[in-house]
Amino acid sequence: MATAVPKTMKGVLIEKTGGVEVLDYRTDLPVPTPKEGEILVKNDFIGINFIDTYYRSGLYPSPKPEILGREGEGTVIATGSGNLHNLKVGDRVVYMGTGAYAEYTATPSAKAHIVPAALEPGIAAAALLQGLTALTLIREAYAVQKDDWVLVHAAAGGVGLWLCQLLRVVGARTIGTASTEEKLELATKNGANVVINYKEEKDFVGKVKEITGGEGVKVVFDSTGKDQFENDLEVVARKGSVISYGNSSGPVPPFAISRLSAKNLKIMRPTLFHFIYTREEFEHWTGELFDFIIKDKLNTRIHGIYPLAEVARAHTDLEGRKTTGKLLLKP
Ligand code: NDP
Repeated sequence: MATAVPKTMKGVLIEKTGGVEVLDYRTDLPVPTPKEGEILVKNDFIGINFIDTYYRSGLYPSPKPEILGREGEGTVIATGSGNLHNLKVGDRVVYMGTGAYAEYTATPSAKAHIVPAALEPGIAAAALLQGLTALTLIREAYAVQKDDWVLVHAAAGGVGLWLCQLLRVVGARTIGTASTEEKLELATKNGANVVINYKEEKDFVGKVKEITGGEGVKVVFDSTGKDQFENDLEVVARKGSVISYGNSSGPVPPFAISRLSAKNLKIMRPTLFHFIYTREEFEHWTGELFDFIIKDKLNTRIHGIYPLAEVARAHTDLEGRKTTGKLLLKP
C-alpha cells in the first residue's frame, strides 16, 4: 500500500561552506519529487562518509545550498517515470546518491539495490559506500594477489576495516596503520597481519622494509593524502602501485611525474564513482559486496548511530579521529 507523501521534512541543509556550524538542521524542508528514473526513499538510516566533510568545508566544490549525504537505506514510497530498474513502492533499498541527510531522498534508481533479507536494518547503509570503495580498490585499482604485501593506511577507519577484511579473504598479507593502540587492535582483529602506529613510529619506512624482507609492499592504499604520500613512495616495491584515494590529512601536493621512474611505480587517484558508473557496474560490485558480507561473514562495524539533529557532533567525531568503522544518522 502506498504511503502518503508529506509536503515538508526534517533535513540538514548547508547554505555555504565552512565548519560544522554550517550544518543547519531544519524541520521545514520541501520533500523532493522524484524525477524520471528516480525513486523517493523514506530513509531509516543515512551513512556518513568522510567525503561529506569535504563538500561541507569546500575542499570539493558542489552547488550550494545543498543537503549533504551520499548514501541511505529505507523504503521506496513514490517513483518517477521511466526506467526504474524494477524497483517499486514498498521495496526496501540501499542507495548511493545525493541529499541523504534528510527524512526523504529522491535518488536515481540506477544506483539503488534491494536490501538483502539476511542483513539486519542499518547494515546495508553502513556497508555500501565504504565497502564498495574497498572492494573496487583491491579488484580494479590494483588487483591484489594471494601473498601480496599490502599497506593499508587508517586501517581502523570505515574503508580501512573493509580493506583489512577483504584482503584477509583474498589471502594478502596486510600491514595496517592507525593512530592509537585501540585502533591497531581493531585492525588486527579485522585481518591486518602486522600493524604500525604511524603517529608514533620514528622509522616508518625502515619498519615496512623490515617487515617485507627489504622489498617493500606491492601496493599502498592511502586515504590520508598529504601526510603519508612521501612515505608511500619510499615503502612501495619496485614496479609497485600507490593508490591515493583520499585526503583526510589534506590533499597531496603536486609532484613531478619523473619521480616514478626511480622504481617504475604506478600511481592512481581513483574515485568510487567511476568504478560504479553504469548500472551494470553498480549491480556487479554491490552484488559481490553483499555476497562477501553474507557468505564470508564480514563484520560491519558501526561506531555510532547519531540522531540526524546531532549531525555536527558526528562530523566533529569523524574529523577529530575519534571514530572506528561507520557512522550512521537516524532521521
Ligand atoms: P575514516 O573512518 O577512515 O576516518 C578517517 C580516518 O583517517 C581517521 O579516523 C584517522 O584514523 C585517519 N586520519 C589520518 N590523518 C587524519 C587527519 N589529519 N584528520 C582526520 N583523520 C585522519 O573515513 P572514511 O572511511 O569515510 O574515509 C576514509 C578516506 O577514504 C577519506 O579520505 C575519504 O575521502 C576516502 N574515500 C575515498 C573514496 C573514493 O572514491 N576515492 C570513497 C570513500 C572514501 P587514525 O586516527 O587511525 O589516523
